[in-house]
Amino acid sequence: MDAAKVTPVVIAGGGLVGALSALLIARHRPDWQIKILEPQPSGPVQDGRTIALAAGTVGLLEREGIWSQLSKTAYPIEHIHVSDRGYAGVTRLHAEEHQVPALGQVIAAADLNLALYDACQAQNNIDWVAGARFSEIKAGRQSSEIIYQQNAGEHSLFARLLVGADGQRSRVREALNIETDQSDYQQEGIITTLTLSQPMAGWAYERFTEHGPVALLPLSEYQASLVWSLPPAAAEEVRHSSDAEFLRRCQRAFGYRAGRFTAVGERLQFPLRMQLAKNNVAHRALLIGNASHALHPIAGQGFNLGVRDAIVLSEVLRHCDDPGSYRVLNNYWQHREADYKRVIGLTDLLVRGFSNTFIPLTLCRNLALLGLDILPPLQQQFARQTMGYVDQLKPVTE
Ligand SMILES: Cc1cc2nc3c(=O)[nH]c(=O)nc-3n(C[C@H](O)[C@H](O)[C@H](O)COP(=O)(O)OP(=O)(O)OC[C@H]3O[C@@H](n4cnc5c(N)ncnc54)[C@H](O)[C@@H]3O)c2cc1C
Repeated sequence: MDAAKVTPVVIAGGGLVGALSALLIARHRPDWQIKILEPQPSGPVQDGRTIALAAGTVGLLEREGIWSQLSKTAYPIEHIHVSDRGYAGVTRLHAEEHQVPALGQVIAAADLNLALYDACQAQNNIDWVAGARFSEIKAGRQSSEIIYQQNAGEHSLFARLLVGADGQRSRVREALNIETDQSDYQQEGIITTLTLSQPMAGWAYERFTEHGPVALLPLSEYQASLVWSLPPAAAEEVRHSSDAEFLRRCQRAFGYRAGRFTAVGERLQFPLRMQLAKNNVAHRALLIGNASHALHPIAGQGFNLGVRDAIVLSEVLRHCDDPGSYRVLNNYWQHREADYKRVIGLTDLLVRGFSNTFIPLTLCRNLALLGLDILPPLQQQFARQTMGYVDQLKPVTE
């Protein structure tokens, strides 16, 4: 294969993590052409979710010049309140105690998708291939053949590295024969918008109940985004209940700490499970974002973990000759493994440890919440994790 015809990096998936990765790599490597294959026929991906961005992620978007477009619609989280329904354990985090203007920001995923799409369009060395769906990879020694569907036809190109950023049901992962480990928590997430009787005043709430966690994120002064985890049958029932019945049940689960819930918007339902790829790197290919790890949204860490995939990948590729070499791919994974273990462990502990009424466990988690509230070093550690700052990310060398 003529080396000039080989694309250095092809990214399957122009979602949040794929588009961000393309942008960071393209900016570090103006000498490379980056291709994104995205099935959406035109424009950015449509996504009805609201997501909480950790302060570390916001810092990155600021540095990359993307935040100014988003800051108009983002809402800051200035305080976080974590509690256990029916028990005394409570912990609170305040931005001013950690010398930051906000612990995180809440935005519509659609706004972030649009901002990243615009930035990719403005970047000369990114080729966004709209309406293109990755289907196969044929491994070669110096490059691999990437096959994709577009306009009802089959096309192919050659790449040194294929990055699978094609989400939880990743076709790239399947084509590479990479299996997954799954933890089914037997919970479904109900997502909607609530109107409240009192101002949110920058507070985000995470409340653990015997059925699963309820999270409330500030969207505006009197509106909050709700993520309510329930057993599948109960989730189905509340999703189809009348607005009045929904508000009554939700208020009973959450309590009155944020005031009265007065109206509810359209309800979406998602299965909540953890899915982890057994391998993240393969011959001239790797998986990032949800293709590699889909987490329960309890700790709001899924996208933030994907952001750090993008940062490390772009750092590892900054000075290399062959982006698909084993040395580069191993280097990437060595810099990611510890962060994965930490975030996955924390998320799993929160889901399992807090959805349980076993008395010694209830006691332990309440003591843990009280400990977090009282002991500054513990809280500092928790806050750093919540804000998405991970120490081991800084030095990435080949
Ligand atoms: C209810 C809920 C709430 C959440 N809240 C938070 C939060 O508060 N904070 C947080 O950090 N995270 C949160 N997350 C997680 C976050 O949404 C995901 O981590 C994030 O969307 C992952 O982005 P991604 O780009 O990896 O995957 P996706 O967003 O799924 O994007 C995948 C892309 O691949 C494309 N694609 C699919 N198939 C192909 C193919 N064959 N070829 C090419 N492209 C393809 C799709 O069109 C899409 O553009 C939440 C998740 C859920 C379910």
